[in-house]
This record gives sequence, structure tokens and C-alpha cells, in this order.
Amino acid sequence: MIIAPKIRGFICTTAHPEGCAKQVAEQIAVVKSRGLIENGPKKVLVIGSSTGYGLSSRIAAAFGSNAATIGVFFERPGEADRTATAGWYNTRAFEQEAAAAGLYARSFNGDAYSDPVKAEVIAAIKADLGQVDLVIYSLASPRRTDPQTGEVYKSVLKPIGQRYTNKNLNTGTGVVNEVTIEPAEGDDIEQTVAVMGGQDWELWTDALLAAGVLANGVQTVAYSYIGPEVTWPIYKNGTIGRAKEDLERVQRVLDTKLAPLQGKAWVSVNKALVTQASSAIPVVPLYISLLYKAMKAQGTHEDCIEQMDRLLRDRLYSGNPQPDEAGRIRVDDWEMEPALQALLAKYWQEVNTENLAQLGDFDGYQSSFLRLFGFGLSGVDYSADTDPGVGIPSLPQ
Ligand code: NAD
Repeated sequence: MIIAPKIRGFICTTAHPEGCAKQVAEQIAVVKSRGLIENGPKKVLVIGSSTGYGLSSRIAAAFGSNAATIGVFFERPGEADRTATAGWYNTRAFEQEAAAAGLYARSFNGDAYSDPVKAEVIAAIKADLGQVDLVIYSLASPRRTDPQTGEVYKSVLKPIGQRYTNKNLNTGTGVVNEVTIEPAEGDDIEQTVAVMGGQDWELWTDALLAAGVLANGVQTVAYSYIGPEVTWPIYKNGTIGRAKEDLERVQRVLDTKLAPLQGKAWVSVNKALVTQASSAIPVVPLYISLLYKAMKAQGTHEDCIEQMDRLLRDRLYSGNPQPDEAGRIRVDDWEMEPALQALLAKYWQEVNTENLAQLGDFDGYQSSFLRLFGFGLSGVDYSADTDPGVGIPSLPQ
């Protein structure tokens, strides 16, 4: 079939296998161009490995450190007349590239929050790798089913205490308007913490520890975001921020649990980037448009792959992780640089539909968004008849 983007609000319901393969290849090229990471990870489990930060973590570990990788994700395969989700095609491409490079790669498509998926992954680690020395936790999901009770928790993006009004970008039209979001009510906070907080990270770590599949000196990392004050009501101080606080609480718990193995748990605060998860957050896409323009102009712009390469190369495996006062790794350091933030705060006041192209990088936002789904990559023939039903080598066909 001829595959074109079909955008519905902040999601694209189609994905292009060749385009996804191209963007995976481009990420691999970035990592390879930086050379091997000295004393980098060798056996890596990535939970949430098919898109965004998790995919780039997997690529950085595999192609920056020749690591064997196991990836876990929740993606929909394609059919004869319906495309798969982008993460499916990304993983197919990743596995093909890994095989060509002689690297072990195995993937699991299922609900990472569930006990059976944890058990399956642990069995694979035991059988194929023995142990892992790095566990990346990069899930982003709107819901989670509690493995014990079967209760379905729903995550919401809401301010806490009072309604929040701010500028917002319609990412389809480029119109800068205003959005008002009502505050959390009922058990919104608890539900969001149950999905995006640290509980499942702890369950994974407990299960991996109990099975004896964590190597001495193991590191585990989960991802967080802080960002500028304009977004705090909806992010840092909102329901999602509470979940991220919970992640930090669990990080400290995991540090204690991993101490007998001389292991270490980290929260890494990453840069705001266009991903499937971040495009769903109100206000943030406008901020990202301003951020991209300013960082590109400064020459400091990074995408997920540059961020994750820097996380492994310059922090986790450099012997100098440079934690902040709360013990977090900060690869959002270039984003949060005070002079840049002062400029962005000024632009935030000024930005409107008319000057968006001048102050922000709306084109960059849109092309980054389309690239997530494999569209707009050079060298891909989008007019070619393409099979959407292609499989992932390590998964049952
Ligand atoms: P993403 O949507 O690109 O990736 C989410 C991943 O989780 C995918 O691999 C998906 O398949 C997987 N997943 C979702 N539900 C699952 C389930 N039930 N079982 C198995 N896999 C499942 O998101 P992202 O933006 O890369 O976010 C990853 C983490 O990084 C999140 O914790 C997010 O808060 C954090 N982060 C994101 C940004 C940003 O700007 N995008 C910035 C800082 C931190």
C-alpha cells in the first residue's frame, strides 16, 4: 500500500516502515560517529524500547557499546491494509541493524506492567544473557493495569489546586491560542502516580533481583522532566510532576535494594523533545518550538539520540555522573542554562501566531513529529508500494 501520514490531533495513526528504518539508521550513525563508549554497558534491558527516549537508549547501548539488548514495548503489528505503529517498525529496523552488526537483540511486545511479561523477559535474560548490567525504564503510558488487583489506573495531565491558563500551540495549524485546564479532582493524583510513578519500576527491579539476573555493579535509570516555570503548573507541579516525585522516592529505595550488588539507581532528567508522549501535553509543544529554534541557533540542540548517547557516555559510564543536589543526573543541563531560559521566558511573553515562525521552530516541530512515524525522511520513496505487514525478526511471525 501507499502509506501517507494520517494525523488525528496529537497522534499520527499511520507509520512508514522504510521511513522508520531510515530514522533508526540515522540514530545509529550518530552514535557510531562518536566512537565506542569506554567501559560501557554490555547487557542491557530497556523497558519502553520502541520509541522516543527508550529507543534511543537501546541504540546508544547497542551501537555505542556493542551491548546485547532486550527490549520491551507495547506496539501494534501491521496487517495487509493497515500499518503497524511506529515502534513496531523501529524495532524491526533496530533488530535488523543489530543482526548485521553481530549484536544480540531480542524483543518482547506486551504489557510491561504485567507479571507474565516480567516473567517472560526474566526467563530470556537467564537463558540468553545470564544477567544484565543496565536496566533502562522508559515507559510512557496513559494507563496501567495493577498486576495484583486488576484495577486500571488512568494518568491525567492536570494542574493541582487551581485551573491553569496559558498559551498553547495548535500543532496542526500553527495557531497560538490559549488553553485552560481544570485542576485535578477526585483521585486524579493517585491514579497518575500509579501509572507514571515508580511503583512498576520497583516491581521490575524486585523481580529482576529475586531472579538473580542483575549483575554486580548494575545501574538502573528512569527518566524525568523538570522544565521552565511556564510549564510548571501543568508539568512539574501538576499530576505528572507528582508521579515524577514518586519516581525519585523509588530511586532512593532502589539504591538501598541494589547496595548489596554495589548497584545504583538513577533518575535522569532529560530535555524536552518531540515524542509521542510529549506531544500530548498541553502548552509544552509551544515551549518546545521556542526551545528548538534557540538551541539550533546556539548549536546546542540535541534529539533523543544525542541525549541518550551523552547520558551513557558522559554520565553513567564516565566515572563522573555529575548528580545535582537531589542526586539526579541532568542531561537537561543545556536546556536549563540560565541565559537560554531567560531568552525563552522573553519569547514566551511575545510569541503569537504571527511571529511564531520568527521566534519558534514550528517547521522543526512538525517535521520532528512526522519523523516519529517515519515520514519526511530523505531517501525514502513515499510513492512506492510498501508492505505494512512486515514482522520483527525476534518475535513470532
Ligand atoms: P514514548 O511515548 O516515545 O515511549 C514510550 C514507550 O513506552 C514506548 O516504547 C511504548 O511502546 C512503551 N509502552 C507504553 N506502555 C507500555 C506498556 N503497557 N507495556 C510495554 N511498553 C509500553 O515516550 P518518551 O517521551 O520517550 O517517554 C519516556 C520517558 O521519558 C517517560 O518517563 C517520560 O516522562 C520521560 N521524558 C520525556 C521527555 C520528553 O520531552 N519526551 C523529557 C524528559 C523525560
